[in-house]
Amino acid sequence: MAAPLTADQIVRALRDEGVTVVEVRGWRTNNRNHVGKWGPVHGVMLHHTVTPKSMSAVSMCFGGTGDLPGPLCHGVIRRDGTVHLVSAGRANHAGGGDPDVLAAVKNESYGTRPPASNEHQGSAGAVDGNPHFYGFECENLGDGKDPWPAVQVEAMVRASAALLRAHQWGEKSAIGHLEWSDWKSDPKGPDNVVSMPGLRTRIADRLAHPANWTPGTAPKPPAPKPPVEDDMQPIDVWAYRNAKADAASVAAGHGHIPDAYGHLVQTHQMVAGLVAAVANLTARVADLEARNPS
Ligand SMILES: [Zn+2]
Repeated sequence: MAAPLTADQIVRALRDEGVTVVEVRGWRTNNRNHVGKWGPVHGVMLHHTVTPKSMSAVSMCFGGTGDLPGPLCHGVIRRDGTVHLVSAGRANHAGGGDPDVLAAVKNESYGTRPPASNEHQGSAGAVDGNPHFYGFECENLGDGKDPWPAVQVEAMVRASAALLRAHQWGEKSAIGHLEWSDWKSDPKGPDNVVSMPGLRTRIADRLAHPANWTPGTAPKPPAPKPPVEDDMQPIDVWAYRNAKADAASVAAGHGHIPDAYGHLVQTHQMVAGLVAAVANLTARVADLEARNPS
């Protein structure tokens, strides 16, 4: 029975392992503990985000999508190797999976790979993985072609090793989503650089060394960032609206409806427009006064 690490313990473990951490504003209290259990924890799960290079996945993983409320993981591992923390509690990432896999992870009783999963979200024999796994979402298209930068893969190894070390677990406590659910393929990449057996070998190598170890072949870790960053970037409102509510609105002849975030963006745009208009008016009044002194 392993109690989950606290937010402070997560940060400490990652930094000790040489990970460049960004604490996203509000991450410590961003969780889904109100809908279900968080813990006991048994392992770490790696994912890919299915996002293009041009997009930060941090906002989406913090807040979720229209159909899937956030947080969608504990940390986002960006292509530059930085790890952005978005939750320290229950997160929507593992979903349903195979109890045989959970047992094999819990006991670390498997060879190169856990037993093949026969379950997925909603299948009759599935168990919920969200109470039991830390999750890292790693930015990648997940099409098997999008390359994984070496610095990002190194961060995946280090972030996983950090949490395993803090719990005194071995490398077999780290699995990929594809090993948990027979519906999933993540993390997926070319040249097998993110194959779970390969990653577990590197994690085991790390765990055999002190946390501050840097292997000779490792890429240089990214430069330190400000400890807390408000990197919630504007996202495509329409892509993340509630699809069901929107479809109903369109069917009823009311057109598309934005979600709460969409309203916020619209309001922000209107206010920005008003501020600019007032500044313009003020300048013109001042100009008129200068020309016609009273
Ligand atoms: Zn996944």
